[in-house]
Amino acid sequence: MNVLDLSLPELGEVLGSWGEPAYRARQVYAGLWRRAVGYGEMTDLPGGLRARLADELPAEVEVLAERLADGGATRKALLRLGGRHVVEAVLMGYPDRVTVCVSSQVGCAMACSFCATGQMGLQGNLTAGEIAAQVRWARGAARELPDTTPRRLSNVVFMGMGEPLANERHTFGAIGRIGDPAGLGIGARHVTVSTVGVVPGIRRLAAEHPQAGLAVSLHAADDELRDRLVPPNRLWPLRQVEAAVAFWRDRTRRRPSIEWAMIRGENDDDRQADLLAGVARRLRAHVNLIPMNPIPGSPAQPTTPERMAGFVGVLRSRGVNVTVRDTRGRDIDAACGQLKWEHDRRGFPQESRSTEERNPHQASSADEVA
Ligand code: SF4
Repeated sequence: MNVLDLSLPELGEVLGSWGEPAYRARQVYAGLWRRAVGYGEMTDLPGGLRARLADELPAEVEVLAERLADGGATRKALLRLGGRHVVEAVLMGYPDRVTVCVSSQVGCAMACSFCATGQMGLQGNLTAGEIAAQVRWARGAARELPDTTPRRLSNVVFMGMGEPLANERHTFGAIGRIGDPAGLGIGARHVTVSTVGVVPGIRRLAAEHPQAGLAVSLHAADDELRDRLVPPNRLWPLRQVEAAVAFWRDRTRRRPSIEWAMIRGENDDDRQADLLAGVARRLRAHVNLIPMNPIPGSPAQPTTPERMAGFVGVLRSRGVNVTVRDTRGRDIDAACGQLKWEHDRRGFPQESRSTEERNPHQASSADEVA
């Protein structure tokens, strides 16, 4: 049993069956989630209990590889969760905030043509605990960020591997787990869910987690091109996606974001910019342009700086609020799924090392882009 899959009441039940008093569960839960430490550092617990926890309730998060970029302000980790699922998570420190980008699935069934994760197909869904475990890793890793950035994790974005709304039950469960004041305590206002446009999920997100932010990965503004770049468009065409996002905006009174990976010769022309401007204006959305990372084996290439400037110019001339996302960690294969792709094909040259071995703040046993 992976302790990271247990809620506080469930942990209380297990420890109660061991004859432990009720307050022990709160201590262990706070150590695991709020402090993000291993059992060895929970010195408020008796040694015998720490040993039994490590033996019978391991917190199964193994750091298989970790790569640093941007002077240490970007940390990308390949994590094995629950002894089975291997996923990526990326920690990004900015001058004013620290964001972690988490995965919701292993691989992805959506098959977007320009995405390394999409080339893997779907290998499995993560549980709510496994998603939250990436945030726990990030809380610990944030303590090692350089002093150019805060060392406290503040934001969570579901923009890693997988389509979060295709694993809706566990994504919603993870948002609850991440916000639990007895645990990580990062409220839904600081969480953003990114989707390619899973229409029923967008509507349910508005109802179940109205505080959470929404980013829609559009990448194309007409159905013909989008059918090719983002195959789920054949099921939920642009008109339906736009209606669902409008519903979400009206329900939550929050501004949605539109994500757009700039692919040379595909979606970076003035016509697409003009069509995108229309969608963004109708939705009163902010547009994030993403300089895509080239992916091994894919013909898709990043747009040129000149074309990026031209595209931005069209959007601005139409009064659209637009930013160009910085290319965090490009030198560490930062595109979603690239590290995992490399791992699956070749394995990593580094030996697998546990969190404790890599992070001195976790001394015991087991164990963005706002
Ligand atoms: S872009 Fe997102 S939804 Fe599309 S294949 Fe990649 S991970 Fe899946």
